[in-house]
Amino acid sequence: MNIILLGPPGAGKGTQAHLLVETRNMIQLSTGDMLREAKDSGTEMGKIVADVMARGDLVTDEIVIGLIREKLQGDKQGGFIFDGFPRTLAQADALAELLNETGETLDKVVAMEVNDDALVARITARSTCAGCGEVYNDITKPIPADGKCTKCGNTEFKRRADDNEESLKNRLMEYYKKTSMLIGYYHAKGNLSWVNGLGEIDEVQAEISAALDS
Ligand code: AMP
Repeated sequence: MNIILLGPPGAGKGTQAHLLVETRNMIQLSTGDMLREAKDSGTEMGKIVADVMARGDLVTDEIVIGLIREKLQGDKQGGFIFDGFPRTLAQADALAELLNETGETLDKVVAMEVNDDALVARITARSTCAGCGEVYNDITKPIPADGKCTKCGNTEFKRRADDNEESLKNRLMEYYKKTSMLIGYYHAKGNLSWVNGLGEIDEVQAEISAALDS
């Protein structure tokens, strides 16, 4: 089963994708993670996207489609979770083509609904484990008192450079201008389900699970 988790920054796509990887043996394809990796390892592409990402703008369709194309060639296990991709209509069309070429289908699109105030609160409190990428939140899921990641035991945590109010404002604008119309696009294709992204992590997980099994 191949699915898209669709929603604004901070909706909980990454957290829920990690859970689907654990429970359904799926593969998370996060273009944001891939771009951050390229940036951190200092590749040519990483240098090009660094400023764009820091501002909260979208990088070019060409770059992210190229990243996804590469990953679709690999092992697909329990299926792909597209997390943070597609973000434009051109990316959505390219994904349909890429899946078609590899004989795959897009089975479900899960739209995660969260209001803007909650997004700002979540994002400014967010950190991730430097070892495994597990997501923590100062309020709802704090780093354990012993300072060790619950998943991998690592003791280093990082905050994203673009998780600040200024860049977030821009990321939200980008979402409403360029990405939110994908909800209508997938609704018209008939494979969209809504979940309430405001609940506790396990409640959202249960809603997503029900949507995938329906
Ligand atoms: P994310 O981790 O999904 O919040 O993405 C972080 C940043 O990476 C975004 O603000 C964009 O600058 C860039 N990015 C990630 N995915 C895409 C995409 N599909 N299209 C364009 N830019 C992207």
